[in-house]
Amino acid sequence: MSDQTRIRPSEPSDVLRVLPLGGVGEIGKNMYVFEYGDEIVVIDCGLMFPEEEMFGIDLVVPDVTYLRERREKVKAFLITHAHEDHVGGLPYVLPYFPGVPIYASTLARGLLGGKIKEHKLNNNPLLALEPGQTVEMGAFSATAFRIGHSIPDAMGIALRTPVGLIVHTGDFKFDHTPVDGKLSDIHALAGFGQEGVLLLLSDSTRSESPGYTPSERTVGEAFRSIMDGLDGRIIVATFASNIARIQQVFEAAGTFERKVTVIGRSMEQNVRIATDLGYLNYPSDQLVQKDRLKDIPDSKLVIATTGAQGEPMAGLARMANRDHRWVEIRPTDTVIVSASPIPGNEEVVGRTIDNLFKVGANVYYHDIKRAHVSGHASQEELKLMLNLTRPKHFIPMHGEFRMLVQHGRLAAELGVAPENIYIIENGQPIEFSADGTGRRGTPVEAGYVYVDGLSVGEVGDVVLRDRRALASDGMFLVVVTVDKQTGNLIGRPEIVTRGFVAGADCTGALCAMT
Ligand SMILES: [Zn+2]
Ligand SMILES: [Zn+2]
Repeated sequence: MSDQTRIRPSEPSDVLRVLPLGGVGEIGKNMYVFEYGDEIVVIDCGLMFPEEEMFGIDLVVPDVTYLRERREKVKAFLITHAHEDHVGGLPYVLPYFPGVPIYASTLARGLLGGKIKEHKLNNNPLLALEPGQTVEMGAFSATAFRIGHSIPDAMGIALRTPVGLIVHTGDFKFDHTPVDGKLSDIHALAGFGQEGVLLLLSDSTRSESPGYTPSERTVGEAFRSIMDGLDGRIIVATFASNIARIQQVFEAAGTFERKVTVIGRSMEQNVRIATDLGYLNYPSDQLVQKDRLKDIPDSKLVIATTGAQGEPMAGLARMANRDHRWVEIRPTDTVIVSASPIPGNEEVVGRTIDNLFKVGANVYYHDIKRAHVSGHASQEELKLMLNLTRPKHFIPMHGEFRMLVQHGRLAAELGVAPENIYIIENGQPIEFSADGTGRRGTPVEAGYVYVDGLSVGEVGDVVLRDRRALASDGMFLVVVTVDKQTGNLIGRPEIVTRGFVAGADCTGALCAMT
């Protein structure tokens, strides 16, 4: 059956379809599809790190079956910012969409460029879309606006469609003293509100937190207060992509005349790119290569590294396990874990911190001394976003289901009609007609695609269920050789067990068989 005959009857062309393929009901693999007539634009294409029971899985990316079936319609990928949960899926998705351009800001293009080279994906032009710029794509036109977040040049996107104006916030908070001095474009948001917003999609990550999220700058103050008076080494672990945080490591280190060494492949690469593009600023002699570590006295050194999420192969965990080529944790070290665990990672992060304490290091983690603040808006900022844009319809996005519910309640409090608030799961389209009414469409396929080593999508739920069964019940294998002619047993049956019962391969009643 061709796409034509299968799709067209149920898809009237004057309807605007908004479809999350990832990012609602979960934190990770954000991907939002906007479809009108013969055209589709996609905002973000992220990945998700596997949950603990996803044995052997390296990454999870969105299922793009819906888009693959409409390949000729897909006109562009728009990228809000270069965090993995917004761009990490691209290398696995782009091969299905050769030639489709990716629009992103300078820093995002810089960070993506490495990824694209690594995965040899040269068929998708990487085009500029900077905060304040507009790009036309057939029926759609997208205006990027600057928004505060934990990475420079984070953007939201105002998408003008024949049915109305959509505002997609991207990840955001309203930081009035951002590290790079570039403010959220509140004026643009108010302008959209005045123009009339049909639909707002807004970040729900911290919709459970009352008040305001503190400014990123407070982390720099926390770094200084921790570093003050120390004469041992200082190790700061954070996200490799958190350029604003890394900038503050340099600045705080500079206050105490400390050099900075960056360790961890992804962080080293990001620091190189961000420095080249002018997003990271520090005296050139402050950065010390890791092979020169030994030349710097402990009291003059800060090490910035990855592994704040407890990833077993990343810098911090290996340092804690005395398994790192360059750095071994010593009792005189002070470690700052400048991140809060992504939901699901709490246990591994906890284990890494335990190991650091066991070696004798002093560890600051999570919100202790406020060495980390979120890059996401709390309730009062979410209300401000709703107030500025005054949307007719609202889809809370980027959050676990309960966070979406809380965000939905805020919107209702602020006057969005309850029937126009859509708490939805991945694959649930919302369709808007020319008269501005919205309704739920027929859900489409939008599950998980597992990346396991080099295989993409070959490991499915059935394999995972088997892996879970093997992990919890062990394995029991009976090998019986049967004579094809007579049907009689040849020799003794063999029983092999793994993780089943300790000791002998056969006990009790089972032995009767052998
Ligand atoms: Zn982000
Ligand atoms: Zn995000």
